[in-house]
Amino acid sequence: MIPPIADRFVAGESPATALAHAASLDDGGVNAILNLLGEHYRDRRDADVDAGAYVSLLADIATTDLDARVSVKPSQIGVSVSEDVFRENLLRIVDAAADSDVFCWVDMEDHATTDVTLDVVERAAETHPGRVGVALQANLRRTAGDLERLADVPAAVRLVKGAYDEPASVAYTDKAAVNEQYRAGLDYLFAHYDDGEVAVGSHDPAMIDHAKTLAAEHGTDFEFQMLMGVREDAQFALAEEYAVAQYVPYGGKWLQYFYRRVAERRENLVFAARAVLS
Ligand code: FAD
Repeated sequence: MIPPIADRFVAGESPATALAHAASLDDGGVNAILNLLGEHYRDRRDADVDAGAYVSLLADIATTDLDARVSVKPSQIGVSVSEDVFRENLLRIVDAAADSDVFCWVDMEDHATTDVTLDVVERAAETHPGRVGVALQANLRRTAGDLERLADVPAAVRLVKGAYDEPASVAYTDKAAVNEQYRAGLDYLFAHYDDGEVAVGSHDPAMIDHAKTLAAEHGTDFEFQMLMGVREDAQFALAEEYAVAQYVPYGGKWLQYFYRRVAERRENLVFAARAVLS
């Protein structure tokens, strides 16, 4: 069971708890993006097991009337084993997602995996146009080129600032520069991508306002995406006017994810300390 200290950020250990959380979000007009926690597998068997768990989750989603999506990490389904294993597992998941009429997102991990992730996502988008999307990271110097590359691919893009500690040779490491790149990325997405292909993955009020301005200017149909447990009041408030989806992690491997959320922000540390002391 997830201890109360972590259940702000993680929905539970089973698919049933994740779907129950998705149903509660749905009541507030927010959609769910379900992510089974797991990453950095080096053994094909682990990658295959998690790919199978997604296939089963997708069948479960199909039995509900929820407009839920899934989001999968490349290193969870074999990118560290081989490109072939990653491709086979992603195609297996995207096939199942298409059968269940569910959209499939692919998270982006460290820069060493960007090329292979984009190659495999392009392949999945050829097979199932309009059913798959991928995160691009504003902190990476290459991202302007990747935004151009994907503009004519029938895949959606979730723009995020980037969660990985990358070297200056490949990434902007200064916060202001990352914010500038994020704005420029949004400018490009809203100007060049089709309806339904743009997701704004940020909690930053300045970036959210910029996206609202661009949406009004271009009329693009887009979605805000935020994490479970982060600015949830803002998520429900935005949902009154915009499409909003919450990224909902679940599963037994919650500890590392919980540490990451706590480490990234002082307020979260204070929250965790209070929970331990109370
Ligand atoms: P930050 O730059 O962290 O913060 C900017 C401002 O936002 C703050 O000053 C504050 O005003 C507000 N804010 C931020 N957090 C909080 C909070 N907890 N409480 C109150 N206000 C807050 N990264 C990847 O590398 N790959 C991925 O695939 C990926 N997928 C993601 C999916 C989603 C849906 C989201 C939301 C993020 C994802 N990320 C991913 C993480 C992302 O790269 C950032 O590390 C993370 O979102 C923090 O950046 P930020 O834009 O939210 O704002």
